Amino acid sequence: MSKQLAKTGYLDDQSAVGINSELSLLSDIYDGRIMVVDKTFEIIKDTYSIDEGKFNVSEGVIKCFKGESGSEYFERAQRIQIILPIYDTGLAQVDGVMIMTSSTRVIADMVDSYYETAGIMNIVILICAAFVAFFASALLVHPLKKVTEAINKAAFGDMELVEVRDCRETEKICDAYNQTLTRLKTLDESRQEFVSNVSHELKTPITSIRVLADSLMSMEEAPIELYREFLSDISDEIDRESTIIEDLLTLVRLDKSNMELKVGQVSINEMLEMVLKRLRPLAQKRNIELVLESFRPVVAEIDEVKLALAVTNLVENAIKYNVDDGWVRVSLNADHNFFYVKVQDSGLGIPEEAQSKVFERFYRVDKARSRETGGTGLGLAITYSVIQLHHGAIKLYSKEGEGSTFTVRIPLIYIA
Ligand code: ADP
Repeated sequence: MSKQLAKTGYLDDQSAVGINSELSLLSDIYDGRIMVVDKTFEIIKDTYSIDEGKFNVSEGVIKCFKGESGSEYFERAQRIQIILPIYDTGLAQVDGVMIMTSSTRVIADMVDSYYETAGIMNIVILICAAFVAFFASALLVHPLKKVTEAINKAAFGDMELVEVRDCRETEKICDAYNQTLTRLKTLDESRQEFVSNVSHELKTPITSIRVLADSLMSMEEAPIELYREFLSDISDEIDRESTIIEDLLTLVRLDKSNMELKVGQVSINEMLEMVLKRLRPLAQKRNIELVLESFRPVVAEIDEVKLALAVTNLVENAIKYNVDDGWVRVSLNADHNFFYVKVQDSGLGIPEEAQSKVFERFYRVDKARSRETGGTGLGLAITYSVIQLHHGAIKLYSKEGEGSTFTVRIPLIYIA
């Protein structure tokens, strides 16, 4: 526009209708005002027709005459002012200045209205998001609620497996829970079985005592010898009852998960000699040869009392379930990490189907024989627990009628 003003000589003659209407149009479009100032700083055109004939010697106008055009924003007045030079036709010097002032109120109003709309939109979006979140969480929580209900039911004794296959997470929770439940069920069953076995075992001697006592009482004038014999039998049954109770107590103590071993440096050779010395009279009764083979001196970190009990049970069984004039061989060997105790006998052997069960509580291959020899069916269970506590292992090789071999492996150094 300023170029057009220069070209048409508007600074000298402001009568050009076309230019005037163009200036008015421009100022209308931008809701503003256009003023044209000539070289003498006189306002020769004002689209508001207020300041025509007056002079404008503002800093912006002076600067513009020097060739520095510029624009300025007056925030408070919500106005923007652009000052442009009008060059002479040769584009050499500034002949006049065009000042265009435009109100930014429209823009400000527009911005305000945008802000308002954005605010409303924000609230709408927030409400929508809240609804979506509420429904999504309800959807997610529903299967979890089902799992919780099922678990709660199980907690009150209804030990049923939980199946909520609604999503992968609940599936995983259910699987983990079912595994634990199955383990608990197995434990519960074995506990029940143990309790029923214990009751049965404890009842047997008492029943015998009762039978003996009743038969004595039912006899009138029984001879004193019979009394003696029956009372001695009763005493034997009482001994048996206390053996069972003692073994049970040993097992229960070993079963405690926080059971601590009294570990010390022990010469295994000496320990085995001591065990064999104690059992020799039992072996001699049936002319069973009892031999100890030590391949090297072994010192290990063990609980001497408990491990001696474990080995005693093995050697005692080897004597008890042996044939008359048989043999029992105990050997000791070691490598860098472990020591090995082998108890071999020439006895009856253990049938294959019974081999995996002999370490169970109260299991006996031949009940009558075990009872005859004073067995409680707890000896090997005690041995197994002691070896487990020492982080060791026990293995059994046997053939019915050809004898048995129990091999025990225990680490030389105990790691708690
Ligand atoms: P028990 O007190 O009856 O001896 P154990 O737990 O020590 O109980 O042994 C369980 C069963 O394993 C025994 O009743 C016996 O039938 C069998 N058994 C254990 N050791 C031997 C062995 N060396 N030879 C043959 N049978 C054995």
